[in-house]
Amino acid sequence: MLSVIIPSYNEEQNIRNTAEVISQVLDGSGIDFELIFPDDGSRDNTWREIVLAHEKDPRVSGLRFSRNFGKESAIWAGLEATSGDCAVVIDCDLQHPPKVIPEMYKMWQNGAEVVEGKKSSRGKESGIYKAFSKLFYKLIASASGIDMADTSDFKLLDRKVIDAILSMQERTTFFRALSGWVGFKSESITYDVEERAYGERKWTPKMLIKYAVRNLMAFTSVPLYISGFLGGVISVISVVLFILKCCGVGLGSFGGSQILLLLTGGLILICLSIIGRYLAQIYEEIKRRPKYIISDQIKSQGGSHDR
Ligand code: UDP
Ligand code: MG
Repeated sequence: MLSVIIPSYNEEQNIRNTAEVISQVLDGSGIDFELIFPDDGSRDNTWREIVLAHEKDPRVSGLRFSRNFGKESAIWAGLEATSGDCAVVIDCDLQHPPKVIPEMYKMWQNGAEVVEGKKSSRGKESGIYKAFSKLFYKLIASASGIDMADTSDFKLLDRKVIDAILSMQERTTFFRALSGWVGFKSESITYDVEERAYGERKWTPKMLIKYAVRNLMAFTSVPLYISGFLGGVISVISVVLFILKCCGVGLGSFGGSQILLLLTGGLILICLSIIGRYLAQIYEEIKRRPKYIISDQIKSQGGSHDR
């Protein structure tokens, strides 16, 4: 059986349509499946729509978070709820085309353990967003050795891979990178990013910046080295300036050293903040809080749901 995980946050307009479209595609290809909707603490009627979708089709199940924990947690909860031999993660707004799922499934039947959905076009994204995500993936690739350009959360994973990912103890997870990090036989399939079916994008610029910083730090310690490198460069400059001064080379009035003092102060603050961010992330990890808290749950097949 194939488990389809559909993280949903304020997607009341999409749930019914998405459940129908995906079911039609999979029924049409004769694939046995279950649909899992983790509701990431939506403030609209997403949960009610999930319950309705379940009443219409008992292959639909859902988990409701007590608040918004973020897409990573929603994917994780979905992975934990899977009972299939493999699982696909797909966005609720149909930007990831469901028609690609049967092809992914076929590749899995032919031996692939991970099937990565790669964007052949990025759809309608602003120039700033494209440049930002390019820089982010370049940094991740140089730090971790995993090339994630054009990858997305749209992918199929074999049961072995799901179990390997779920065995990881860290709290700050980055699904897109972890599925590459665990290894296994990986293949990729390209798709065109579609227009969002209904509703608005759920990520605010603040959420995206937080996501980028958090994941970069989870995957690389390079920023800590950068602070050391900057410190080194500043020290060399100061020594050179000191020697020049000793040799009587005119450095103008005192302005030069004042600027240097400011520069050094600024750099020390930058370095302290980088170290501080890592300390904060370590603190988050050692608290070992759960990635999410479930307030309601509907199970597939059996048709029972709490509350
Ligand atoms: N999403 C989520 N939790 C969040 C934000 C988004 O589960 O805190 C889900 C959202 O419902 C959608 C998917 O993640 O299914 C992608 O979100 P969106 O379409 O807003 O982002 P984009 O397509 O622009 O990456
Ligand atoms: Mg989207």
